[in-house]
Amino acid sequence: MGSHTDPWSTRLAKAAEQRRADGGWRQRPTLSDVAPFTDFAGNDYLGLADDPRLAEAQAEAARRLGAGAKASHLVSGHLEIHERLERHLADLTGRPRALLFSTGYMANLGVLQALCDRHTRVFQDRLNHASLIDGARLAGATSRRFHHRDLEDLERLLARAPDDTPTLVVSDGVFSMDGDVAEVGELAATARRHGAWLMIDDAHGLGVLGEVGDGCVGRAHDRREVPVLVGTLGKALGSAGAFVAGDEALIDHLIQFARPYVYTTAQPPGVVAATLAALDVLAREPERRARLHERIARFRRETVTLGLPLTGSRTPIQPLVLGDNARVMRWAERLARAGLRVGAIRAPTVPKGEARLRITLSAAHGDDALDALLDGLAACQREEVA
Ligand SMILES: *Cc1c(COP(=O)(O)O)cnc(C)c1O
Repeated sequence: MGSHTDPWSTRLAKAAEQRRADGGWRQRPTLSDVAPFTDFAGNDYLGLADDPRLAEAQAEAARRLGAGAKASHLVSGHLEIHERLERHLADLTGRPRALLFSTGYMANLGVLQALCDRHTRVFQDRLNHASLIDGARLAGATSRRFHHRDLEDLERLLARAPDDTPTLVVSDGVFSMDGDVAEVGELAATARRHGAWLMIDDAHGLGVLGEVGDGCVGRAHDRREVPVLVGTLGKALGSAGAFVAGDEALIDHLIQFARPYVYTTAQPPGVVAATLAALDVLAREPERRARLHERIARFRRETVTLGLPLTGSRTPIQPLVLGDNARVMRWAERLARAGLRVGAIRAPTVPKGEARLRITLSAAHGDDALDALLDGLAACQREEVA
């Protein structure tokens, strides 16, 4: 080996040093199987991930159909159980068809790559999920960002676009780090005035919002308003995967052209069965959603009383924006010592200076869990002042 430094080592060391200097070094907390902690960081809003009915359905399907799907959908991986789930998801969201993807990240890459190229225009909310930004990049399309939930800013951008260019307006349904909800009706009206399509990624709304847990788009906004709807299955539905819902032409186009759909192994049948079981529970037990919303209301009532910096979010995502990275880490560690896990979210996931505790609530949280969280937050605040 020569004595000169390897350029890759230099490059990696430099990136690591920069990230450490920013106070943004990320670590993966490894959770014990028998962890005595309460989770206020996950996205299992209805407590379905631990429901024995999902696990049982998964095991049964794996025994019957195999642990894996063995091939991609276009080769020999597309089973009746995938077809059945797609029909359920189309029904739930009031769309003619749905197409199953292995993850939400891939669904977003797939849609944007299949729909867009450098001859199309993409307008995205500034706080959209990373996968939406990355999808436009994969497509070779330039995303213009509009100010968060700012319809006037969107209108201004749309007015500049020539009307005969295919144009896509893209927004999260529920914003994953803020918990606020897109104004879908107004976005749809704005997009339509300019002949643009609207795509909503309802990852955090599905199962939580809507009359029947159909999300912030679902049956309330039909496919003429929101031609492209994405939902994920690893959050409130407690399983894994994602889907795109829309009309025949859209789904056919994705099957033909979405590379992240075509060139990947189909979801394992057990995972599909678990999602079907989750949809069954969602339909039969509306009390879970009611209980979740009651949890949210209690958390908000009591944090206001504590004088904590609550946002306007009405969803299970309840951020406490503390500002700087060190403060967020201090609070998160203090809560962890009390057996409470919350998200500690820093730049670049959120803008600099807006580091926050991302607290998420679930129908599975009991009163004692909520008591412990509120006590822990009060202690953080006391120790800060002292
Ligand atoms: C979580 C999330 C995704 C990604 O979904 P996965 O199934 O976890 O890959 C996409 N969009 C939004 C808004 C999300 O919050």
